[in-house]
Amino acid sequence: MSTKSVDRQPSASPADVSFFGASGTMRGSHSAAGTHSPTSVGGTQTVTEGAPDRVIIFDTTLRDGEQSPGASMNLGQKLQVAKALRELGVDVIEAGFAAASPGDLEAIRAVSREVEGPIVASLSRCNKGDIEASWQALKDAPRRRCHVFLATSPIHRDFKLKLAKEEIIKRSVDGVRMAREKFDDVEFSAEDSARTELEFLAEVVEKAIEAGAGTVNIPDTVGYALPATYAETIRYLKKHVRGIDKVVVSVHCHNDLGLAVANSLAGVMEGARQVECTINGIGERAGNASLEEIVMAFRTRGDVLRVRTGVQTERLYPTSRLVSQVTGLHVQRNKAIVGQNAFAHEAGIHQHGMLTHRETYEIMRPEEVGFAKSQLVLGKHSGRHALKERLVALGYQLDDKAVDQVFQEFKVLADKKKDIYDADIEAIVVHGQILGQNGRAWELEALSTTSGTGTLPVASVALRNAEGEKLRDVAAGDGPVDAVYRAIEKITGIGVKLRDYQIVSVSTGEDAQGEVSIEVEHKTGVYRGRALSTDIVEGSARAFLDVVNRIALKVSPPAESEARAEMGTP
Ligand SMILES: [Zn+2]
Repeated sequence: MSTKSVDRQPSASPADVSFFGASGTMRGSHSAAGTHSPTSVGGTQTVTEGAPDRVIIFDTTLRDGEQSPGASMNLGQKLQVAKALRELGVDVIEAGFAAASPGDLEAIRAVSREVEGPIVASLSRCNKGDIEASWQALKDAPRRRCHVFLATSPIHRDFKLKLAKEEIIKRSVDGVRMAREKFDDVEFSAEDSARTELEFLAEVVEKAIEAGAGTVNIPDTVGYALPATYAETIRYLKKHVRGIDKVVVSVHCHNDLGLAVANSLAGVMEGARQVECTINGIGERAGNASLEEIVMAFRTRGDVLRVRTGVQTERLYPTSRLVSQVTGLHVQRNKAIVGQNAFAHEAGIHQHGMLTHRETYEIMRPEEVGFAKSQLVLGKHSGRHALKERLVALGYQLDDKAVDQVFQEFKVLADKKKDIYDADIEAIVVHGQILGQNGRAWELEALSTTSGTGTLPVASVALRNAEGEKLRDVAAGDGPVDAVYRAIEKITGIGVKLRDYQIVSVSTGEDAQGEVSIEVEHKTGVYRGRALSTDIVEGSARAFLDVVNRIALKVSPPAESEARAEMGTP
């Protein structure tokens, strides 16, 4: 379902608080949030993007989120995430920074061609080359946005840009104008707004609006603001900038002090109507505002916040899982909304309270965020249809051919293993070839190791490269896993330093799969890889190949994220 069609539907009845989340979708059961039922909000009003209480959700998982160290995604993975975001109901997908690399440009183009519904945005600095790159990436998009930015704070002006205030204003205006020559929809970001003098910030924003920006973004680029100071900034701009009521004010907050979500909400309470955020809060350094936390705060505390989004909240958990899988960034167990423990009640007294009356200790229900449908076990006799349903519940939008491919691999695994858990299915999709598409340089052909007390551990590894050639090598190491890694390094010529190695059991039973997660350092950056297997040496080899493939497929060294770090982004 596209966001657009959702937006145009009439809302649910006033009594149904699902109004806040799934705009227009009536749900059978009454929401747990009914205890705070915001009866005075909503009514029979039509849900449109322009309504005063409608907050635009601008997802930047594929741009800011992908700038998390080691979180780079290949094209197939980015498309999968974009499709999941559309199903989730976000309004804008920032698909990349077109000028940062050819890979980014290609990914934005692919998303804009294949994912219909949301507006697709590309980030650009305020220069001709960047804006042209965004245009090349987006010219076929049915709904497109050029997002230009320039830093405004004294520290950026003096040390990064070495530009005077007047020059900053001129460049901002020129940037917005240039973008407007090609794009109807232009957003301007005053990078590091939170550390910019209020008067100067107001001046820049006013000039950007005059030049044609339809959205003005006020980023707290370094996560320095407090809710009260950030609210003050938005309030000041709302009061002093001419024309600000005709544009959308946007917030973009980083989490360096753990305040990204709190600051974003403070901005919304002052009238901001676009929130830039990412799934699982991934992003530069400590990350960005977490989309799921923002959306559920709006929904659960609609009594105070009185705004709504077009997000289908029951897609939050599947989308979170998908993003965690493709980026290799685990979600902490106690993470709000989507962590494994978010709805778990351990203490006996809580359980008792829960049984008597759910709301005693639960302000949201797991079903609201799509949690309840998780952890279903499939087996040998499960059919293609059941598998397909599971894939959708896990956040994947695959075509029939890809589903067939997953089904084949599922059958092979089911012969080896009695119970197939979600993690097993995810492994097939993410670590198998499904999302690989032009995304796998090396594959494991064969592996054998010898080790034991008093013998030198030796591994013999055979890999197949992208051209289908089989290459084999042998190496010794401190242990069987070390020996395997050395053999893979010899074959691929990619040398890395192992920074972290973890193995955990992902499912239960004697045939449980072990998940190996590794983090390595390569001269182009830090990479993470994961793999599942019933055999820990094989799992270790596959996790290592996962990172080797990520490194091998980097479009152009130095790593894209480093190139972007040099440019700086909001
Ligand atoms: Zn950012």
